Amino acid sequence: MKTIVGLDLGGTFIKVGLVSEKGKILKKEQLPTLGEKGRKVVLSQMEKGISFALKGEKDILGIGIGTPGLVDKEGKIFSAPNLPDWDNLPIRKIFRDKFHLLVVVENDVNTITSGEYIYGAGKGYKNIICITLGTGLGGGMVLDGKLFRGSSLSAAEIGHISICYDGPKCNCGNIGCIERYVGAAYISQMAEDAIKKGRKSKIKDLVKGDLSLITPKIISDAYEKGDSLAKQIWEKVGIYLGTMFSGLVNLLNPEIIIIGGGIAQAGKVLFDAVDKQIKKRAFPLLAKDIKVVPAKLGTDSGIISAASLIKLRY
Ligand SMILES: [Zn+2]
Repeated sequence: MKTIVGLDLGGTFIKVGLVSEKGKILKKEQLPTLGEKGRKVVLSQMEKGISFALKGEKDILGIGIGTPGLVDKEGKIFSAPNLPDWDNLPIRKIFRDKFHLLVVVENDVNTITSGEYIYGAGKGYKNIICITLGTGLGGGMVLDGKLFRGSSLSAAEIGHISICYDGPKCNCGNIGCIERYVGAAYISQMAEDAIKKGRKSKIKDLVKGDLSLITPKIISDAYEKGDSLAKQIWEKVGIYLGTMFSGLVNLLNPEIIIIGGGIAQAGKVLFDAVDKQIKKRAFPLLAKDIKVVPAKLGTDSGIISAASLIKLRY
């Protein structure tokens, strides 16, 4: 059986595993990243993880690596947050020379997009938009069956599409970015503001009055209990996202929009609101068959998606 090594490099942990060609995890391991100890140590941790996955295996198709930061077409990391001494690191070359196997490196959201395309919710489609929604909003796209990488270092920075020309300032320097409305902290802020203005909500009971403890998960829990503020917040998030997606639907005419990340767990209320907004705003002919679905690869998605990068190249 042919197998692939998938490595998901995170700020805290390196998750690595051996994956079958069909996307099943055969073995896996987790190691601390140790980013604070510098690049040499991180590279050695990665090497340890890859060696574990390769041990006793013969028919390896390659090693796929998903990493934070900006990665160029040669698999060189341009810069990575939380790994300050990683600028201009030729990570693909390093591991190709070490293991003499095909190595593919992509940034983490492109990696997740590839995983959903090859093994997950996007299987069978050719035009896909994928976002991960958590602290921030990351994006990736498959167009005409190819991962879209743009002309230089980065594309599909969907989180930094502005939905309001005079909106709040974003960390990226732009104004009114979608991330500034639907990032976890801003969703929590919506609840906090409403409660401070006197709105009654189960959200307040769930955090025992300490509004600084509100998270999107708490808002979801309140929604499950029939809370009207929670429902309103998810609908609002759906309107923000749907507004942004409508532009992308008109621009790209995708078949499917995949939403992953912690906030996607808000579930049907959010997906319905996004779908409704797209149908309301985008060209009817482009919007009518669009599917808005949750990401399908579960807890091991980082490893499986990294492995999928090798299938993407085959
Ligand atoms: Zn921004």
